[in-house]
Amino acid sequence: MRLPIIDDVQVRQNTKRIHQEMERPWIMPIRVAWEMAHGLGLGKQHKLLSKASTKMAKSNRNEVRSYDAAIYMAAHMSSGLANACSGADDCINPCIVYTGRSMLHNGPQKTYAKRLYMLIYWPNVFFTLLYRELEAHWRAAQRRGAIPAVRLNGTTDIPWEKVAPWLFKDFPTIQFHDYTKVYSRLDRKKLPDNYYLTFSESSSNHHRAKEALERGWNVSFCSDVMPRTWHGFPVTDGDHHDSRYLDPRGHAVWLSPKRPNNGFDIRTSEFVAWIDTPYALFNQGGLK
Ligand code: SF4
Repeated sequence: MRLPIIDDVQVRQNTKRIHQEMERPWIMPIRVAWEMAHGLGLGKQHKLLSKASTKMAKSNRNEVRSYDAAIYMAAHMSSGLANACSGADDCINPCIVYTGRSMLHNGPQKTYAKRLYMLIYWPNVFFTLLYRELEAHWRAAQRRGAIPAVRLNGTTDIPWEKVAPWLFKDFPTIQFHDYTKVYSRLDRKKLPDNYYLTFSESSSNHHRAKEALERGWNVSFCSDVMPRTWHGFPVTDGDHHDSRYLDPRGHAVWLSPKRPNNGFDIRTSEFVAWIDTPYALFNQGGLK
């Protein structure tokens, strides 16, 4: 099925819808949900939860007692359906959604857009599939003796604590965790106990980074080399694994720049603080 062409008004309405609390959807028979997802070009072969990223593979090694999965959906306005990242700025072009194999014949990007479509227009199907996969993920983590962990915002910045607060209550033993660029989401009173957020620094929220650190939130930043301290706070290596909720508290989280495959030249990005990378390193494929 082709996604319909959507005008600006619909984009604004869709954006509003994925930022407002959704009604608790009724869970439908899984076969019906699979059939509907197949009709969209999704389904059993395109599960919502993915464990495919390199960093997640690092997390899922035994040394980190966490079993991680994430949902990848169309970032910011890339789907043309809605803005899934209200805090996006100069992170758009070097976004993780364009790295790795995600640009392969554009296939993954279409899948990401279809998942977002399903969330907006068919929330019953979306949550039926998600509930089923969360249960399976929880069981797989139990078998490994690991903590089941899920990033709902693999490549989006949807305020799930507002959109689907019931989800966290239904899966109290799953540790949810995400990055966010939206400072107002850093409110412990509004966040479920099993939802951990790391504030993600970029040019438009730079002035908030130190404030967030002082309030006890970990803050991630992107630079070519890992400094010892950042805004006076100790730095932890965020590339070591993807389980941010395991990071020591009161730390800045360093992330290396990742080379996007959308033609954007990461060297021109203001999202990355270039401290020490010799120019030649770029041409030797020194960036991940
Ligand atoms: S907010 Fe995050 S997911 Fe959204 S465009 Fe920026 S880097 Fe990508």
